[in-house]
Amino acid sequence: MSGISRRACLQLGTSGIAAAALAAMAGPAGAALGPNDKYDLLIKGGEVLDPSGPLRARRDIGIRRGLIEAVEADIPAERTLQTLDAAGRLVVPGLIDLHTHVYPYGSALGIPADETVPFTGVTTVVSAGDAGANNLAALRRHIAAQTRTRMFAFVHIANIGLAGFPVAELYNIDYAQVDACAKAIAENPDFVLGAKVRMSENVVAQHGAEPLRRAIQACELSGRPARVMVHIGGVETAALMSEILDLLRPGDILTHCYSGAPNLAGQFTNIVQDGKLLPAALAAKQRGVVFDVGHGGGSFDYTVAEAAIQQGCPPDTISSDLHVVSGNTPGMPFLPWVMSKFLGLGFTLDQVIAMATTAPAKAIDRGETLGTLQTGAPGDVTLLEVIEGPVSFVDTRNNRREGHTILRPVQTVNNGVPFGRPFQLPFAVK
Ligand SMILES: [Zn+2]
Repeated sequence: MSGISRRACLQLGTSGIAAAALAAMAGPAGAALGPNDKYDLLIKGGEVLDPSGPLRARRDIGIRRGLIEAVEADIPAERTLQTLDAAGRLVVPGLIDLHTHVYPYGSALGIPADETVPFTGVTTVVSAGDAGANNLAALRRHIAAQTRTRMFAFVHIANIGLAGFPVAELYNIDYAQVDACAKAIAENPDFVLGAKVRMSENVVAQHGAEPLRRAIQACELSGRPARVMVHIGGVETAALMSEILDLLRPGDILTHCYSGAPNLAGQFTNIVQDGKLLPAALAAKQRGVVFDVGHGGGSFDYTVAEAAIQQGCPPDTISSDLHVVSGNTPGMPFLPWVMSKFLGLGFTLDQVIAMATTAPAKAIDRGETLGTLQTGAPGDVTLLEVIEGPVSFVDTRNNRREGHTILRPVQTVNNGVPFGRPFQLPFAVK
């Protein structure tokens, strides 16, 4: 793409607007770069893997004014103000984590997104229902606005969001306010992607499919092409699991898709039951429901994943469900670690990188601008070390699997500005 469209800029989120304005001043990316002009940052000598091309080759990346301006075989060091040495590293589009809990100070589970960057390499996070209609403005004004990491949100159908933890938000169905949720979606098109609902029995008690129906209604009432992100794992009955799957529309997101969590009676009511994938799960997959990993502290079971993948439901997106509780569990749900588990399950490096870049970008309708290293895109880049060697992984139900590769984040650039060295002068961020 030769430039960044105005519409695309508007879709970048609140924090992308400054960069978009700069881009507009500069004209189309590349055009304003004279022979003596320099890039602000050169990422040099890495192996670029960009699933949006697709491209996999040794390339240098020139970034200026927050945008990727050049991806070339060799950009001389004198063409840049600063250089990030990427020799021996895998250079990928900034990772997108579709399921996180990034509402610190507003939710007990919330973790500051920027603080996780050294462990995740993530440049875009999606807040998975941390805020409901009642406290969304604080998430936007007091958290997202102060955060370097690009942030979007699903607004919870419960108007208190996840602030009530550990008392589940939908034991009382009256918190599920369709009009309030629809209004929050409608009023925040650059920030809110749709509605989140948690459907586990230990969240919705015996309210059946009603919370999900309300979340879908809120999306439809908003007048936007908003999506539902539905959390599963231990729903009340096996029949309810199929009903949930049948209600989901193309583009809606099924998170914790490989959960093996039981319901309150200890029964397994997930998408794989007795080793068999539910027909409703396969049907959902085939009509375009997005299967999202959402590993978390209790929501990834190798035995469910292996059966589902083998029977036709591979993941579309890999996400972490990182929060202050899950981040301390042995499954270590940090995005590159979860991605490494999928390398261990037999997916290729190209596939796994796509599941954390182009695929989530598409799932949030930002595929034109995010999850890509094409010129004109924001300068969101992740540098990874690919470590080959035996590694042992554990899921959230004590199942252990041996893997062969670890992806370790080594450097992250967000909107053209590295986290850490080289430091920019002045230190200015979007
Ligand atoms: Zn979650």
